[in-house]
Amino acid sequence: MTQENLVWHQSLVGREQRETANGHKAAVVWFTGLSASGKSTTAHVVEHELFARGYQAYTLDGDNVRHGLSADLGFSPPDRAEHLRRIAELTKLMYGAGMIVLCAFISPTRESRQRVRELIPEGAFFEIFCKCPIEVCEQRDPKGFYARALKGEIKNYTGVSAAYEEPLQPELVLDTAANPPDICGAIVRKLLQDRKIIPPVEEMPKGGVSRAKAR
Ligand code: ADP
Repeated sequence: MTQENLVWHQSLVGREQRETANGHKAAVVWFTGLSASGKSTTAHVVEHELFARGYQAYTLDGDNVRHGLSADLGFSPPDRAEHLRRIAELTKLMYGAGMIVLCAFISPTRESRQRVRELIPEGAFFEIFCKCPIEVCEQRDPKGFYARALKGEIKNYTGVSAAYEEPLQPELVLDTAANPPDICGAIVRKLLQDRKIIPPVEEMPKGGVSRAKAR
């Protein structure tokens, strides 16, 4: 069996039908930035809020993907490229399933981010640059990786011994040093609202609501 013998099996349920059923559009929100810049934290804040409103949202996170799908890959440039290729394809499938896919990956090269962008229709891909000075990231360093990278114990560490290419035209620059996670989440949510991915959001009632009521 070779690649040319494969035929894409068309689903009987299209993305648009799923979007109508979900009450929102599918989208990919791609968080990029240095390690400890706040990508995962922001993605999870947004995911939590969208879920509370009954929306289909899911966070793909670097460490989680490396536990399974990319467990055989390291951090050399070719391995990073393959890691991102797999994530991009997974993201595309989840997008096709009508979800708002929140992706938190350092994704250090412009080329690798551009490759994901090209898989998703225009207007449904949001590149969010989590802008945080490396000094702040080093200070946060929740896993102690910067300290080890600075001592030379970890090789190819983005920002220390491997380059990070800042996005040139991201949909959003999020100042994750100046804004706490809940504000960062609200800024991203507003972007999704302004770009008509999700309907306008009224103030969430205090004390939480059930998913059904939150619709
Ligand atoms: P990344 O996913 O970019 O590696 P994380 O989301 O894991 O970063 O956050 C790294 C650390 O920084 C965590 O300890 C987290 O609590 C903290 N953090 C994340 N976002 C913010 C923020 N906006 N303001 C202050 N601290 C933050």
